[in-house]
Amino acid sequence: MRGWGGVSVPADERLGEDLAALTDGAVLTRGLGRSYGDASLPPPSARWVAGSKLADRLLEFDPTTGVLRAEAGLSLETMCRVFLRRGWFTPVSPGTWFVTLGGMVASDIHGKNHHVDGTIGKHVLSLKMRVASGDVVTCSRTEHPDLFFATLGGMGLTGHILEVTLRLARIPSRWIWRQSHQMRDFDELITGLERSAEWPQTVCWIDTLATGASFGRGVLMRGRWAEATEAPPNLPKPPFQPTVPFDAPAWTLNDLTIKAFNLLYYHKQIWPRVQGIVSPRSWFAPLDVINEWRRAYGAPGFTQHQCVIPREAGTAAVRAFCDILARRGGSGFLCVIKDCGPEGEGTLSFPRPGMSVALDLPMRSDTQDLVDQLNAFVIEVGGRIYLTKDALSRPEHVRVMEGERLERFLAVRRAWDPELKIRSALSVRLFGDPP
Ligand SMILES: Cc1cc2nc3c(=O)[nH]c(=O)nc-3n(C[C@H](O)[C@H](O)[C@H](O)COP(=O)(O)OP(=O)(O)OC[C@H]3O[C@@H](n4cnc5c(N)ncnc54)[C@H](O)[C@@H]3O)c2cc1C
Repeated sequence: MRGWGGVSVPADERLGEDLAALTDGAVLTRGLGRSYGDASLPPPSARWVAGSKLADRLLEFDPTTGVLRAEAGLSLETMCRVFLRRGWFTPVSPGTWFVTLGGMVASDIHGKNHHVDGTIGKHVLSLKMRVASGDVVTCSRTEHPDLFFATLGGMGLTGHILEVTLRLARIPSRWIWRQSHQMRDFDELITGLERSAEWPQTVCWIDTLATGASFGRGVLMRGRWAEATEAPPNLPKPPFQPTVPFDAPAWTLNDLTIKAFNLLYYHKQIWPRVQGIVSPRSWFAPLDVINEWRRAYGAPGFTQHQCVIPREAGTAAVRAFCDILARRGGSGFLCVIKDCGPEGEGTLSFPRPGMSVALDLPMRSDTQDLVDQLNAFVIEVGGRIYLTKDALSRPEHVRVMEGERLERFLAVRRAWDPELKIRSALSVRLFGDPP
């Protein structure tokens, strides 16, 4: 069994439609395994985890309020297929739709609209969970609130989520109106992002290998749901979906090929600004059209480093972070900067006001060293990393980044699971759980 980036352990995933039965005695539940590192993998002593993906029934929907109750294994892809045509959409979408509701809640995921709509947790009304004692409990802001808040972003460590009740968002059409701007350097890019705060959805791609006058160049993308009058009447046709057939040989991925990719990506639009209607899939989850795109990183796999640099550290800190990347090289195709709004309610929820930088890193002999260097910088500026993307951070770094939040989280977890029956490879690595 493996995490999305390639970390693997010798364990099985047990699947079943009855998640309540399946999680009886399970050390962990996983969804579609899109967390990059070891969050969805069991600790070394466990041979299996519960897999939720067959427990995916829609249980109840109120078309007047948009409140949906569904099993935790429901995929976002199915949810979008069912609800887009009915004028509803997930209030928060990550960069892939191959995730489950349970996984979205356990990571308290954020999207391009974080500065406006917060994380998914803000829209969750209640959770039905099997906790370590074996009991099935419902938690919400008023019922077992400690469990509820620790579970939002709690990486599956507070219990098995069986059902999620959340409020979907009403949308005026099934299409996105988007603008895409080429930005010639770092200042243009970051100023453009900051000035786009009135757009409900924003994100930047940055060319981490550009240096000199082009340092920090990138593409600023901003979007909103198209009004019914602007949108074509029908849903977009499913795109052609190629598959990367095998792991790319190690020599294909080097600074030269990544530079070439970045150059092509930067210049893929002929005009400095393009705008128009696009499908929600290509807007929210552009990589989903290439099956197994992770194989482009070759057999050693890759990891992602995602951190948030707090607003108070200023854009100079974001520049200094990108400067580390430009000087070291070694990064992958994807580096994305996102504006983050207020901190979520989840005890360990990742985003906080500032700018998030997410960076794919191919696994190489010096990747651990680079992650250490990036984390030392994140600590210096008072930021934090996103646990669902992490595979290589050191416990002492995470302890400093999380401080008192982590103590609070671990105390709630201990109260519900004194014997630490529910554990993961991540909790062994970062929180010192028994293997
Ligand atoms: C291409 C790509 C783009 C992404 N973009 C974003 C983004 O924009 N924003 C963002 O926030 N994230 C993003 N992610 C990360 C992804 O949204 C999260 O890792 C999400 O948790 C994956 O869901 P999953 O169902 O695959 O969960 P898994 O990877 O299977 O599990 C993730 C965590 O959730 C726990 N979990 C899963 N199901 C349950 C359950 N039923 N009960 C208890 N715990 C459970 C697991 O134990 C594990 O700790 C992206 C990932 C990829 C691959």
